[in-house]
Amino acid sequence: MVNSSSHPCIKDGWFREISDKSFPGQAFTLAVDSILYQAQSEFQDILIFSNKVYGTVLVLDGIIQCTEFDEFAYQEMITHVAMFAHSNPKRVLIIGGGDGGVLREVAKHKGVEEITMVEIDSLVIELSRKFLPTLSNGAFDDERLDLKLCDGFKFLEDIGEAGAQKKFDVIITDSSDPDGPAEAFFQERYFQLLHNALNPDGIVIMQSSENIWLNLNYLRDLKNTAKRVFPNTEYCYTMVPTYTSGQLGLIVCSNNDSIPLIAPQRSLSGREQEQLKYYNPQIHSSSFVLPTWADKVINK
Ligand code: SAM
Repeated sequence: MVNSSSHPCIKDGWFREISDKSFPGQAFTLAVDSILYQAQSEFQDILIFSNKVYGTVLVLDGIIQCTEFDEFAYQEMITHVAMFAHSNPKRVLIIGGGDGGVLREVAKHKGVEEITMVEIDSLVIELSRKFLPTLSNGAFDDERLDLKLCDGFKFLEDIGEAGAQKKFDVIITDSSDPDGPAEAFFQERYFQLLHNALNPDGIVIMQSSENIWLNLNYLRDLKNTAKRVFPNTEYCYTMVPTYTSGQLGLIVCSNNDSIPLIAPQRSLSGREQEQLKYYNPQIHSSSFVLPTWADKVINK
């Protein structure tokens, strides 16, 4: 065990998430029962600690990535909104996702034949498997998985240049926030790379690192950036207590302008619904419905 006051984000036994850039004037804190791991990897600062309510908490560069208590709300929505908006996904690409939660959710789709996962930091995978095993829940051993340890942006550039024949049906960008190694994922060039790697009826989804309470104009601009590449682009959100203001926005796009992203394109089997704690067809659609003031900025 590590001394629980030896990390810059921890003071008097409390972890404090503070970002004057992303959420000025506010902070989110969690009591630290014990620090399980902390170190600077080749790419980012990694902190893992335990909290009596939220269980084990993964923090990268001072920003909470997931906690055992509420991670499912994020993993299920970023995965299944895209997967059920597609009529029959066979080849899925996950960019980022080192904790394994999205991989766990994609693996629940038995019709999927190939899962490619591109994670830049092998240490996040190693530590998540050790300290947060329920996140991946064995999915890293799924025989459909092709795991690549490299930069997701460069991976997409390389397959674009190589003229890869096989494209993807669903691409999920489960990255950390724009500060740090994930910065390039929030720019137009990235949406173009996604477009080039996607099949005609393909769906892409990404975490927007913001929500309607934090920076509405940023979300409007990010959605408009996506729309310049994917005319069929929508914004939805999921509710996660340990993400700033308790929710996180998702940007969803399709190459096919006629696909109604706001509704699942296939129904869930009883078995599929039994495996899910947050996602269901009703919450899929309702997650695109915004309060009036936010709807006017983001959707008009
Ligand atoms: N649920 C979290 C969120 O919404 O912020 C994301 C969790 S996941 C741990 C984020 C992952 O993105 C990390 O494992 C990080 O290493 C990875 N990542 C960041 N930049 C990357 C890049 N350029 N290429 C591939 N993976 C990247």
